[in-house]
Amino acid sequence: MPADDPRTIRLSDYQPYSHALDRVELTFKLHPTATRVLARLHLAPNPAARTGQDLRLDGEGLRLIACAVDGQAVQPSLDATGLTLAAALLPAGAFVLETEVEIAPEGNTALEGLYMSNGMYCTQCEAEGFRKITFYPDRPDVMARFHVRIESDLPVLLSNGNPVGQGVGWAEWDDPWPKPSYLFALVAGDLRAHPGQFTTMEGRDVGLNIWVRPGDEGRCAWGMQALKASMAWDEKVYGRAYDLDIFNIVAVDDFNMGAMENKGLNIFNSKAVLASPETATDDDFARVEAIIAHEYFHNWTGNRITCRDWFQLCLKEGLTVFRDQQFSGDLRSHAVKRIEDVLMLRARQFREDGGPLAHAVRPDSFVEINNFYTATVYEKGAEVIGMLKRLVGDADYARALDLYFDRHDGQAATIEDWLKVFEDTTGRDLSQFKRWYTEAGTPRVSVAEDWADGVYTLTLAQENPATPGQAQKGAKVIPVAVGLLNPNGDEVVPTTVLELTEAKQSFAFKGLASRPVASILRGFSAPVILERSVPAAERAFLLAHDTDPFNRWEAGRGLAKDVLARMIVDGAAPGADLLDGLARLAFDEALDPAFRALALRLPGEDDMAATLHAAGHVPDPARIYHARRALHLALAERLAAGLPELELACRVPGAFSPDAAAAGKRALRLAALGLLARLDDGATARAAYAAADNMTESFGSLAILLDIGAGQAELADFAVKWQGDRLVLDKWFAVQVAAAQPDNVADVVRRLTARPDFDWKNPNRFRAVIGALSGNHAGFHHASGEGYALLADWLIKLDPLNPQTASRMSTAFESWPRYDADRQAMMRGALQRIMATTGLSRDLSEMAGRMLA
Ligand SMILES: [Zn+2]
Repeated sequence: MPADDPRTIRLSDYQPYSHALDRVELTFKLHPTATRVLARLHLAPNPAARTGQDLRLDGEGLRLIACAVDGQAVQPSLDATGLTLAAALLPAGAFVLETEVEIAPEGNTALEGLYMSNGMYCTQCEAEGFRKITFYPDRPDVMARFHVRIESDLPVLLSNGNPVGQGVGWAEWDDPWPKPSYLFALVAGDLRAHPGQFTTMEGRDVGLNIWVRPGDEGRCAWGMQALKASMAWDEKVYGRAYDLDIFNIVAVDDFNMGAMENKGLNIFNSKAVLASPETATDDDFARVEAIIAHEYFHNWTGNRITCRDWFQLCLKEGLTVFRDQQFSGDLRSHAVKRIEDVLMLRARQFREDGGPLAHAVRPDSFVEINNFYTATVYEKGAEVIGMLKRLVGDADYARALDLYFDRHDGQAATIEDWLKVFEDTTGRDLSQFKRWYTEAGTPRVSVAEDWADGVYTLTLAQENPATPGQAQKGAKVIPVAVGLLNPNGDEVVPTTVLELTEAKQSFAFKGLASRPVASILRGFSAPVILERSVPAAERAFLLAHDTDPFNRWEAGRGLAKDVLARMIVDGAAPGADLLDGLARLAFDEALDPAFRALALRLPGEDDMAATLHAAGHVPDPARIYHARRALHLALAERLAAGLPELELACRVPGAFSPDAAAAGKRALRLAALGLLARLDDGATARAAYAAADNMTESFGSLAILLDIGAGQAELADFAVKWQGDRLVLDKWFAVQVAAAQPDNVADVVRRLTARPDFDWKNPNRFRAVIGALSGNHAGFHHASGEGYALLADWLIKLDPLNPQTASRMSTAFESWPRYDADRQAMMRGALQRIMATTGLSRDLSEMAGRMLA
């Protein structure tokens, strides 16, 4: 990141807040253009801080009406980012500061702070949105108990904690648990509740509600089921029970992120909570379940124990992602979940780690914290916890977590605190392991094998590449899970975790009768790139025999990537090893259908571009596109004889159920339909579309038809059927861009964005089209440069209204160093054009600047 930016905030500058804040009383008099917020802050000098300091409160875009200390009006000094009261104006001991401000939620398009969505008031305060509501020490280490009064004629008035009173036009809420301001929430609107109930292991009866706009009541049952499953799981696996009498979830259409874990009042992007068989795909169901779990799990990992400062964001996010991954694995399939998570990690985090935006899991400086809600902090943060668990073992992991909850409940903690509980539990020194938190970049691990006198020796070497601002790095602690197989396919050494702690290390396996075949990095035991050229025959052997399901899939993946790379670079024909291996797997009824569907999914175009770049080639997006389609056709031809039967066998009879087994069958059926479409011009997919009674198969077959250049009648039918359904229409927008031929993508985007129902101020709709543009690899990177120019145009247009979403979507440009000189120049040109825009937000200017640096 640009070290010279004067707005840079550094971890090393951390100081405790000058004052302690015990209690907050807030009154909201809601009005679309003139909401009044009255705040009473019960303050006292902080004994842990330097004495005699001024009182500084954050505040942005607030009109101050009144300010008083212990009932006496005072005149604070105001600037663009807050309010200061000189120490001389403050009593020596405890005092009450009262402020009254006016804000205009209706004009708040950034969707941070208090804003309106379809006539409903809602809030988003993480990371620094609370300062747009009232003057406050808006930092996570200031934790206070909140009492909130809402005055409005809207029928439903919600805030954090427990309801303590209500009447006509008002309601009061009290949260007994001290919390930082980023967990504050308020909702007011004409909402309907889908109710539920849960009794905790401590015997507390908890009222549950999912609040939605009228008409959406029929899409809440799945979310409610997921919530109850999450509550039960956290009790069973982590011993953590819920701690309030009520738990509310609210669905909001205009939301920058997936969801937010505000204490007792989670606010969700409606697409992350609403689901019904007619309107949601199996992937949507799984995502809703995971996000509900994630936000619920934050109640302990994030809310009860929060972050001392935003540099510690991974403390709550890495751990909570890890927990939601465990949960999904327990409820569904660990193997399938692991493969999906690794696919995502490689697609997003490895890409980030290998480009100009690389940063540590715990960064040490930032300009705009909103730019650090990244795959590195979340997904790599979760991987680091997975490694820790692997290194200390399940029993010590559980003991360390118990200690963490005991020791830090009610505190704002750091990564040092987190690692200390593991050191105290196990006696291990984790100072070298800590590099995973402080150093960016994906380690590369190379492998050499030796076989002599019945001893098999594996030599592992690690390399930690330089990243922006971090040239020199030490060796990391890398757990490498290894298993050995006999040439007949029997496992002779079961999974063993080797600890690679030095630059290069050898591990010997004795007493083997014959030279084994190694299965390395089982379960993807560390987020590293394994550098090892494996003969096709060995990959095919592992694809057929590996007992570790992840590595079995990985063997097929590696084989497919090798084959595709040769097709792209040399124009080679697809090899029989891959096609035969996939054929055996596709029709192996002993295997989980979800696993077979994943194995049949070919490596993506962006993945191939990264792979080729890493191997020293300059990726050509058009060649990648055509080679991948040729391989898909070759696979279809190889499997042709069995596909109709497979498609038939995967039809799920009876009423729709979103469970993992049924979803796996539907995924395999769609994989078969996608292959069949290459052979029958889409006839089977067309019939599947016509007969579908659920969104998974309806939308899945539509996407298949569009992908082969057909499906216009079905696309029109889909539009008529779902007109007026915002969430389903997002899919309709996205699929057209995703399936467009590279030459047509820009035209499709221009046509869709000209439609009156392209409501670009809604983040979901914007992402559906503009996000799909950067997701269409060959289209976005089209030689004309139109894809780059279109994205830049839209980011520049969105930035003044919603800098957070604009900034996040700009990461499409982060891969510029991979491509040829022409494309590099065009992508850099697009970034420079963004940088040159007058009035650019702090969010987007930081991102564009880092990508250009
Ligand atoms: Zn989270």
